Amino acid sequence: MEELKFLVAPETGKGLREGHLYDLAIVGGGPAGLTAGVYAARKKLDTLLVSRDIGGQTLLTSDIENYMGYHYISGKELAAKFEEQVKAYPIDIAVGEEVVSLGKGGEDFVLTTATRKEIRARAVIVATGKRSRPLNVPGERELVGRGVSYCAVCDAPLFSGKDVAVIGAGNSGATAVVDLIKIADRVYVVDIMPGWRADPVLVERIAAAGAKVKAYFGHEVVRIEGRDRVEGIVIRPRGGGEEVRLPVQGVFIEIGLIPNSDLAKGFLALNEAGEIVVDCRCRTSVPGVFAAGDVTDVPEKQVIIAAGEGAKAALSAYAYLIGQRR
Ligand SMILES: Cc1cc2nc3c(=O)[nH]c(=O)nc-3n(C[C@H](O)[C@H](O)[C@H](O)COP(=O)(O)OP(=O)(O)OC[C@H]3O[C@@H](n4cnc5c(N)ncnc54)[C@H](O)[C@@H]3O)c2cc1C
Repeated sequence: MEELKFLVAPETGKGLREGHLYDLAIVGGGPAGLTAGVYAARKKLDTLLVSRDIGGQTLLTSDIENYMGYHYISGKELAAKFEEQVKAYPIDIAVGEEVVSLGKGGEDFVLTTATRKEIRARAVIVATGKRSRPLNVPGERELVGRGVSYCAVCDAPLFSGKDVAVIGAGNSGATAVVDLIKIADRVYVVDIMPGWRADPVLVERIAAAGAKVKAYFGHEVVRIEGRDRVEGIVIRPRGGGEEVRLPVQGVFIEIGLIPNSDLAKGFLALNEAGEIVVDCRCRTSVPGVFAAGDVTDVPEKQVIIAAGEGAKAALSAYAYLIGQRR
C-alpha cells in the first residue's frame, strides 16, 4: 500500500505545484475555503488552496456585526484575520488563479485554471461563493465602472455629494443605502417588490435618514442613461404605467447573487438556482468532492455559516481520505 501522503506535512508558503498530487484541493478563499484550509492543515493533509482572491465577499462588506467574537469588525479586517490564521499553517496557497474546470483523471481529480495550470488532488472542496446578479437593462454593461457599480463598499466614496440610485431592497440593497446615506446627497431606492425585504435594524437606520432617501417600490428599471457616465435612470411601475426619470450619477445594483458553480456544471449535481447540492456532511453527488458556503444549497448565506460549513467539509474530506488509504 502506498504511504499515506497526508501524514507528511508539505513545506510552508509554496504556491501551486503543478504535477504534484495533493491530498486536498480547496477552491475559493472566502470564509468557507479559508476555514477549510485551517482544518485540513490541522489534520496534516497535503493541501492546496487556490482562489481568485483572499476574503471573497467579506471584502465587499463594510460592517460585520454578527460574526461571533467581534461586536463589530469591517469585512476587510476579518478577511485579514482569516488570512493570517490560514497562513500560520503549512499549506500551499495560490491566489489570483481562477479554476475553470473540475473532473476526474483516473482515480484522482483534475482541476484546470484559466492560465492552463493543472491541479491534481485526491479530494476537492469547492468553496467558490457567489457573485452579483446583473440587471440586464440597456445601458448597464456600457456604463459599468462609469457610474454603474455592484459594490457600494468599494465605490460609494466616489459619489460624495452626488445623487445615486440603489436597485434592490433586500439586505444587500439596504446595506448599500446605509453606506450611501453618509456620502451621497440623495439616495433613490428602486425595487419591483412592494417594500423592504431587509433586516429591521437596517430599515430603521434608513428611516432615520428621512427625506434624503426616496423609495420607488413596485417599480422596475427600464434603462440606464448616459453618454460617457451615468446621467440618469428611467423606471416605471411594474405591470405598466408612466415612466419616471431619476437624474442620478451613480447606480448601485444589489439584486442578489449567482452561485459561482460554473466549474462544476455537468460534473456535480446542482439545484435549480445553480447551487451545488450537498448533504449535512458537505458531500456532493461525486464521492471525494465536497462543497461549502454560499455556493451550496445550504440555506442562509452568512460568514459564520460559510466558515462552519468549511470546517465540516475539511473534516469530511479527511474522513474520506482515511477511508481511501491509497
Ligand atoms: C454586501 C454584502 C454584505 C454582507 N454582509 C454580511 C454580514 O454583515 N454578515 C454576514 O455574516 N454575512 C454577510 N454577507 C455574506 C457573506 O459575505 C457571505 O455569506 C460569505 O462571504 C460566504 O463565504 P464563502 O466562502 O462561501 O464565499 P465567498 O465569500 O463568495 O468567497 C468565494 C471565494 O471563491 C473565489 N472563487 C470564486 N470562483 C472561483 C473560481 N472559479 N476559481 C478560483 N476561485 C474562485 C472568490 O474569489 C472568493 O475568494 C454579505 C455579503 C455581501 C455581498
